[in-house]
Amino acid sequence: MPKNNTNFIFVIGGVMSGIGKGITVASTARILKDYGFKATAVKIDPYLNVDAGTMNPTEHGEVFVTEDGMECDQDIGNYERFLDQNILKDNYMTSGAVYREVINRERDLGYNGKCVQIIPHITDEIESRLINVANKNKADFVLVEIGGTAGEYENLLFLETARIMKLKMPGRILFMLVSYLPIPEKLGEMKTKPTQHAVRALNYAGIQPDIIIARSSRSLDQIRKKKISLFCNVVPEDVISAPDIDSIYEVPVNFEKDNLGKIILKKFGLKPKKNNFSEWQNLVKKIKAAKKIVKIGIVGKYFGIGDFTLADSYISVIEAIKHAAWHLNLKPEIHWLDAQSFEENSKKLNELKNYHGIIVPGGFGSRGVEGKILTIEYVRKHKIPYLGLCYGMQLAVIEFSRNVCGLHKAHTTEVNPKTPYPVISTLPEQTQRILNHKDLGGTMRLGAYVCELNINSKAFELYKSKLITERHRHRYEFNNEYRDILEKKGMIFSGINPDRNLVEIIELKNHPYFIGTQFHPEFKSRPLHPHPLFLGLVCAAKNRII
Ligand code: GLN
Repeated sequence: MPKNNTNFIFVIGGVMSGIGKGITVASTARILKDYGFKATAVKIDPYLNVDAGTMNPTEHGEVFVTEDGMECDQDIGNYERFLDQNILKDNYMTSGAVYREVINRERDLGYNGKCVQIIPHITDEIESRLINVANKNKADFVLVEIGGTAGEYENLLFLETARIMKLKMPGRILFMLVSYLPIPEKLGEMKTKPTQHAVRALNYAGIQPDIIIARSSRSLDQIRKKKISLFCNVVPEDVISAPDIDSIYEVPVNFEKDNLGKIILKKFGLKPKKNNFSEWQNLVKKIKAAKKIVKIGIVGKYFGIGDFTLADSYISVIEAIKHAAWHLNLKPEIHWLDAQSFEENSKKLNELKNYHGIIVPGGFGSRGVEGKILTIEYVRKHKIPYLGLCYGMQLAVIEFSRNVCGLHKAHTTEVNPKTPYPVISTLPEQTQRILNHKDLGGTMRLGAYVCELNINSKAFELYKSKLITERHRHRYEFNNEYRDILEKKGMIFSGINPDRNLVEIIELKNHPYFIGTQFHPEFKSRPLHPHPLFLGLVCAAKNRII
């Protein structure tokens, strides 16, 4: 049992994936927070991967990193952005992590000779993880997003846990179904049947949704609400209309139009303690008011991908650009630029002039690397504002070494292990692991590290603080043997990790904005608190708008 009378809200998807369960969870948590309650959110991924670090972003979307170094699903990023608070590693679990824990305990004779079973041992493990989150966060509400959709095989155990928890904690568990109502083009009419089937699927798992979030391209009319009510066994008021909207940040405001927050509180016998909606409402107003366009180009490798889009792979970068742009009353326009096309035809590089700012985001491996280096050379020479994120910083170091310091063929050992000038390389403890090619999951430099800023730098000017912490996810580092050479030619090492003397931020003088970070600042940008380095980029970009 949780210590603080915590209530749990399980959020389950119906009909199909990609309809915004994560945003629903994040928005509901935000609403409860604005009513004065302590809310946190958990993401459950039914995959057997132990964490998201080994999942390909083109298949699963961005790998988000928490302060305490968990590689997790991008939804955790949404929770942080909406709640404006850190979410720690306990709030993410996969089937793989749960099973591994139970099997390890069995190997350690932790079950005293009992037969270890899926029910109750796996379900107990899931339950105890959720209660741990409730206790650690001293939460009034824990929202739990169960990955996948109702009726799937893979998430059944999590539904089973939720069912059992309701039995053990009556009155403290609520189920919310996020369903989809298609409007087939030829019919032009919103159909409720798939939602009815989704509810049946949940009923088979012993669960009756208390609230249905009805996603559709349009708002729900009263007729549809009544129909869903009758067939799905909820009162019409508990069917919440969730039409498509331009900005995800409008979702909490929209939910409140149908009183979602008050409905939830009433079901738990609670009343609002506060009404703090103005901050969020002002954000939405600002987003809608921004008209002047700032064009930011993101240079990456081109992905031909299935279920997930490029935007999913870089969601935190995109959101961070938006936060900074809105803060400066600008409307962000984000463009994808294919690094490989620059390799094939260098004349195309001139297109970079059309953008107010350029980002080279994080990445791995060799594809598109030379195109990214050409991009960096171009923006350096043509004084186009540049922000390099992780790989984007490492490649900026390589470009500078080659073209300014004359270290021909300088490279990262990730791409060319035999380079004569390994300006980016691994620390000794990483090298062995990479050579063994074993047990690599979770072995990168992960999570928050302290960085000390040089007070004579742009970075310091932006952060306005000497000590900062930022989140990492990489194996390779700047090679300190080259620090003097690069410094003499004008590169500023503006941020250093004091514990291990690692380069964290580089920048160039005599350029409107040229900054590279070994960490991922995008993970810490929030709509209500844009990240200083993204603000710096967009501010410099703004000066290029004619
Ligand atoms: N591939 C590089 C490394 O592992 C950069 C990683 C990243 O951009 N996140 O160090």
